Amino acid sequence: MTFTSAQTRQILKKYWGFDSFRPLQEDIINSILSGQDTLGLMPTGGGKSLTFQVPGLCFPHGLTIVVTPLISLMKDQVDNLKKHRVKAVSLHSGMSRKETRIAWEHLVNGKARFLYVSPEKLQNERFVVELRNLKVNFITVDEAHCLSQWGYDFRPSYLNIKKLRKVIPDVPVLALTATATPVVAADIMKQLEFKQPLIFKKSFVRDNISYIVRNSDTKIHELLHILAKTAGSSIVYVRSRKKTKEISDYLNNSGISATYYHAGLDTGIKTERQNAWKSGEVRVMVATNAFGMGIDKADVRVVIHFDLPPSLEEYYQEAGRAGRDGKKSYAVLLSSKSDKGILHRRVTEAFPERKRVKETYEQICNHLHISIGEGYDSIKEFDIERFCELFKKQEKECRSSLRLLSQAGYLHFIEDYEKRSRVKILCEREELYHIHDVSKGAEKVLTSILRLYTGLFTDYGLIKESEVAYHSKLSETEVYESLLELDRAKILDYIPRSGLPVIYVPTAREETHAILIGRDIYEQRKEEMSARIESVIDYTFVDKTCRVKRMLAYFGEDNPEDCGKCDVCREKKKNPGYINEMKKGSLKKVIEYLRNHPEGVRALTIESQCGPDKELTASSLSYLCNEGIVLFKDNLYFLT
Ligand code: ADP
Ligand code: MG
Repeated sequence: MTFTSAQTRQILKKYWGFDSFRPLQEDIINSILSGQDTLGLMPTGGGKSLTFQVPGLCFPHGLTIVVTPLISLMKDQVDNLKKHRVKAVSLHSGMSRKETRIAWEHLVNGKARFLYVSPEKLQNERFVVELRNLKVNFITVDEAHCLSQWGYDFRPSYLNIKKLRKVIPDVPVLALTATATPVVAADIMKQLEFKQPLIFKKSFVRDNISYIVRNSDTKIHELLHILAKTAGSSIVYVRSRKKTKEISDYLNNSGISATYYHAGLDTGIKTERQNAWKSGEVRVMVATNAFGMGIDKADVRVVIHFDLPPSLEEYYQEAGRAGRDGKKSYAVLLSSKSDKGILHRRVTEAFPERKRVKETYEQICNHLHISIGEGYDSIKEFDIERFCELFKKQEKECRSSLRLLSQAGYLHFIEDYEKRSRVKILCEREELYHIHDVSKGAEKVLTSILRLYTGLFTDYGLIKESEVAYHSKLSETEVYESLLELDRAKILDYIPRSGLPVIYVPTAREETHAILIGRDIYEQRKEEMSARIESVIDYTFVDKTCRVKRMLAYFGEDNPEDCGKCDVCREKKKNPGYINEMKKGSLKKVIEYLRNHPEGVRALTIESQCGPDKELTASSLSYLCNEGIVLFKDNLYFLT
């Protein structure tokens, strides 16, 4: 089948009302429509969703499968498509059996055009095999960096996508991500068995942002100083929920309007604060990394990291929320001497001893009343704080163990679980007029629900008990009890909201000693995490090359020009003697590297391993040779 660009534009206009594509969107769309396996690299907010939604709708019928990791984002996308009159369904492990069945019905009758599926759902062989019966046009893998164990957010459940490729072999795959180093990009294409490598990539250069690193042992004063000297909307990223409030209070007391945000707050409060910040009513948002996904604010002038991030990927993404409007902006990283130790400790924290991980598995199963051999494909509510209290555990360690258990495929802790109540009406519309044997309250509630919400006859829909209470003039408790009554009478199916996250158990409980946490998810991952942390330490404390150059080199992009705006470039302009310090840094690195490799190293390896400025490294190397500090023999360099 061939498609013209008039067709794709027409779809863009018809469903979304947009007149033109953004850079790269059209290339990606044409590529997938011509049947080629495609990797699209675009920054967050760049418009990746349309690159599979538009081509998905170009086909007159059939389905586009979209694998995506976050249930909350999945929900947003499905609702969004519904708003644009496109039928989409989701399947994830947080859904009840009944909901799953209804979703399947929509798939089988061919009405649904998009299927959003969470990767751990693909762990179930039977499920994957059933997908074979659907007419699929292509497969999309969103957040594709989760596929690569070299990436900062590897999710082994993503490897299940390979099964999908096996079962539905003749359709192309579209992989999308915002961050991928060259190694990760190559790995994604390998894992997905691309027929030919094909990457569309938007340059990562953001030339309106000045990247700055400030070393200070009184970060809070430095923060105040920066905010006092700049103007406009700002984000301050910190690594703990507690700190968001502390710093926000401190700023408010110092006359700078601020608010705070983290994943533990109620949805209503989150929305309220987000809006206050978006409208400019509040200047500074102090937040954990939970803040930012899906936030479209163009005029953020300053993004400050109060704590060091665990990878340059994450730093680049978060710092990149500054200056979307193209105007001059700042990204500042605050560091202090103790930060190195803190970062190193994070690695230890992320990998509790295997013995402890297995012990946690056993305790959780006991706590959830799952006996050995049982629990296959079940969902249980899980209150992590209470669990830790009962078993006298550190929450951090428990979370790390849960992550490892999830990577090993034993348990998946799902925190962003749907927290609103859901309802589906079970009888036909006509039958509703003949219902007599329910209470007055139940009747009122039913009437209100029919007025307030649509689509409940065909699928589960979200409801708010408070809305229903307001509309029916009943109390929330009365509404709740009436809903239970209607559920018992089989008039509707009511799934009350739960404040609690859940644990999804994909396989039956194993004997504790049989739990296998492989090298690939333990030792190997630990090394990779250490390497990423070393890159952050290098960026922050050691390297004295232009910040932009350094970061782009990390993402595999050559940008020979110095940016002229970062702290290193400015320092160079102010103080030419700085060049010598740079050289000193580079010499040190080369010496250090050779000391760690007494077996000898090739020039190319040294150049690629000792910092992004290859020329500087090369000149350091020849200087060291001339001085007799380094020896060149059999094409290898040695420390003498
Ligand atoms: P990403 O997944 O790359 O982070 P999204 O797909 O969520 O980004 O898109 C970000 C925003 O950009 C959305 O609000 C979307 O509607 C908007 N957008 C995407 N493409 C276009 C376009 N061609 N014209 C106008 N707005 C667009
Ligand atoms: Mg996206």
